[in-house]
Order: sequence, then C-alpha cells, then structure tokens
Amino acid sequence: MEYTCPVCGYEHLEDPAMDDEICPSCGTHFGYHDYNRTHQQLRNAWHESGAKWWSLEEPSPSYWNPEIQLENLSRLVEEIPNATEINTENTNSVKN
Ligand SMILES: [Zn+2]
Repeated sequence: MEYTCPVCGYEHLEDPAMDDEICPSCGTHFGYHDYNRTHQQLRNAWHESGAKWWSLEEPSPSYWNPEIQLENLSRLVEEIPNATEINTENTNSVKN
C-alpha cells in the first residue's frame, strides 16, 4: 500500500501522511510542519522554492515530475474538499 502526499502529490509514501512520516519529494514532516500550516500553504512554499526533490538519502525516481504530480493532486483534492483547511465539524455542510 502506498499513500499520496497531500502537499506535493507524491504517490509513493510508505505510510499515511501523518505521525512523523516525511515526504521525500517535498520534505514535509507530517505532524510537525503541518501542525500550524495548511497543506495548501506548504504546497505553495514548496512550489515557490522551485518544487525540488527534497530527500538526499533517496534519489528522485526517474519518472518523477513535480508538475504532473501537482496536477494529479489538484484532481484528487477537488474530490476530497474537506481534506485540508476545514475542521472536522461541518463535514455535512454543502458549499454553493
Ligand atoms: Zn510531498
């Protein structure tokens, strides 16, 4: 089972994006970096700094492409509107 990073869209996290998982693609340390910043903010910061592969221990895969990754993620995030930035309450509210 692999998991998708909600910040950069990297699709091969070994564990869910929480509890000290670190994304090798964008370097987000989940449960730490996203403690007081939204995934959107982290994504923007990563993108503005050039969307570079983060991990020094793990080389970037040959297929790795940050733009395609982000594009795929934008589709995913649309499908899960309450994935970020919204508190657990209001899960039933509908936006017009
Ligand atoms: Zn990431």
